[in-house]
Amino acid sequence: MKRANSFHSPDAQRGKLKHTGKGFMNTRASANCRYQPTCYEHAANCYTHALLIVPAFGGMALLHRLSDTSWERVTAVVYGLGLCALFLVSTVFHIITWKKSHMRSVEHCFHMCDRVVIYFFIAASYSPWLNLRELGPLAAHMRWFVWLMAAAGTIYVFNYHEKYKLVELAFYLTMGFFPASVVASMSNTEGLQELACGGLIYVLGVFFFKSDGIIPFAHAIWHVFVALAAAVHYYAIWKYLYKSPDALLET
Ligand SMILES: [Zn+2]
Repeated sequence: MKRANSFHSPDAQRGKLKHTGKGFMNTRASANCRYQPTCYEHAANCYTHALLIVPAFGGMALLHRLSDTSWERVTAVVYGLGLCALFLVSTVFHIITWKKSHMRSVEHCFHMCDRVVIYFFIAASYSPWLNLRELGPLAAHMRWFVWLMAAAGTIYVFNYHEKYKLVELAFYLTMGFFPASVVASMSNTEGLQELACGGLIYVLGVFFFKSDGIIPFAHAIWHVFVALAAAVHYYAIWKYLYKSPDALLET
């Protein structure tokens, strides 16, 4: 019965889609349309990030507890909120797309939020490295510059949302890799391997991000790549920036 519902859902009708792959995938969207997931894909999109909201809050609390200075505490909260916001906004957006797609303006608003939060998540992911490691006088400017880039990305989303998808992707990749040049130049190189590994997982995931309608559950697979990369980065931040050196010696 559910399959029949998904076939006749407003999503499917709006995009005049042919139901293929036994409900696991719809046909690829045309140039200026958004891909309409099947019911199963909607569910996967929601669950893959919903399950990470509570662990993200737990991760933030752990880093906060391990903090020795107020600057470490502030950084733990900023990074933790970025992590929580990413999974929370993504989940809410996918629930609305799935269950409330008739509320077009609400869906549009959350789609923009889903995109904006990625910029702030990237800035938040770099902040522990930029805030808690020693940087040269020029490199130290990256501490505020990442937030300026996030603000610029937000302005872009509000003005050109969904208009130039490749430009948007180029913005994400630039923001994702430009601060890495500063982090890579730090005298203390501990954790750089994990950082690079996480970055590579994000980049591999982009392949699936662009494969809606070609690979079933492509967007949910992209979510899994995001979760894996975020977990690798969290591990590196916990191990090299928050865990006390004494505890490191014991392991
Ligand atoms: Zn998503």
